[in-house]
Amino acid sequence: MVLTITYTGENTRDIGYLLHKNPYRPQFVDLNYGKAYVFYPEVSDERTTIALVLDIDPIDLARGKVGQTGGGLFDYVNDRPYVSSSFMSTAISKVFGTAMTGRGDDKQALADSALDLSATIVMLKSDTMMLNRVFEPLGYCVTYESFVSDEKFPSWGGGKYVNLTIKGNVRLADLLKHIYVLIPVFDRRKHYWIGSEEVDKLIRNSEKWLPNHPEKEYIAGRYLNRSRSLTNKALEQLKTDEEIETEQNDESDIDNISEKRPNLNRQRLRGVMEVVKTCGARSVIDMGCGEGNLLSLLVKESAIMRIGAVDVSCTALSRASSKIRFERMSDTQKAKINIFQGSLTYRDRRFEGYDAACVVEVIEHLDLPRLDAFERVLFEYARPRYVVLTTPNKEYNEKYPNLAEDSMRHGDHRFEWTRGEFKEWANKVAEKFGYSARLSEIGEIDEQLGAPTQMGVFTLCE
Ligand code: SAH
Repeated sequence: MVLTITYTGENTRDIGYLLHKNPYRPQFVDLNYGKAYVFYPEVSDERTTIALVLDIDPIDLARGKVGQTGGGLFDYVNDRPYVSSSFMSTAISKVFGTAMTGRGDDKQALADSALDLSATIVMLKSDTMMLNRVFEPLGYCVTYESFVSDEKFPSWGGGKYVNLTIKGNVRLADLLKHIYVLIPVFDRRKHYWIGSEEVDKLIRNSEKWLPNHPEKEYIAGRYLNRSRSLTNKALEQLKTDEEIETEQNDESDIDNISEKRPNLNRQRLRGVMEVVKTCGARSVIDMGCGEGNLLSLLVKESAIMRIGAVDVSCTALSRASSKIRFERMSDTQKAKINIFQGSLTYRDRRFEGYDAACVVEVIEHLDLPRLDAFERVLFEYARPRYVVLTTPNKEYNEKYPNLAEDSMRHGDHRFEWTRGEFKEWANKVAEKFGYSARLSEIGEIDEQLGAPTQMGVFTLCE
């Protein structure tokens, strides 16, 4: 049983940090059904591959020490030690458990980024059509190598096993979760008992990507060994997620953002939308739009005739577009929205011509030395009449009990500012580019520390 994961790009050895496995130190891990070997068959700047090889003891299997016994001859002559099956998934969670959580420590930005990754799963038993239908909606390019059952007996036809390779631009943690859940989907003889814990495991590892998957029923059903009651239970939870999302979309009419579930995110969006509406902007660009939280409010405002949404991350953009159900919009609605990939630190004509630009919780993701470039791109070249910008107030971090001293609120934050630092920056930018700056606070205000979020509204001086 072999799984390999290959990272191509620059400094690809860094994948070792994300996998928490040193490229120069092969390891083995004892599992209760055999051994897992972890090593890197290739390591270079441009291309690094890690392999996970499982060595299962067929005698233990035959004695029924692990897994299900089929009885009779099957216990002695079977594919179990060789095919990628539920054993592989269990090994993945043991060996790459930390990587699956998305924790990247010093390389958090890399862990949070979509990378050019491919994975090869050797000997997966499957109907090939289903491989395409299961992996392609997740954004993978799917290829497989198949084999004839026996060259001496061509009449026996093709075998049922393939070596599957999936390739995509994904976060490593997501790739691992996809494989972890989807290998057992193709294994009808799982070695563990399928009970309600498996439902929880499925939800935990797939709640971000399964609800909208066109083969959701197939995946949940097979993962749960076609147990109807468990599958229904899982689908119910996956559906609930969708319903919550729809609910949020409905609620995204700003007037309905009630005190029902006040959270910082909502308060921030409400604050930004109030400014946008009060200044009477007819065209707005959401810079660093992320998954489209603000965008889903902007599209509901009939006074706004033109909307731009830009982000550097393709994954974020596709989430933003499905959040506002872009594909289902009328042509007129579509025509007024432009969702595109771009970077806020490079001059871009597509940023020009908007009345207002919103930059919500984005600047702290930029490397400090690139902040000058961002300032020029926005205030000098795009030059909207209004800029609404928010960023965390570092002083308030003291109030977060789980945040270690001196650490930031998000792994990808490059800096966080005190109120003094933000004020200094805002005034400097305003003066340099001919804007006036007005600062305010969002969220619960602590007398000493201020509020969790700080907002700057910049108005172009005539
Ligand atoms: N404004 C959104 C997202 C905030 S998270 C919200 O409030 O929900 C920060 C976002 O900035 C991420 O989506 C990230 O991809 C984006 N980002 C980081 N650096 C960027 C850059 N140089 N150009 C454009 N977007 C960037």
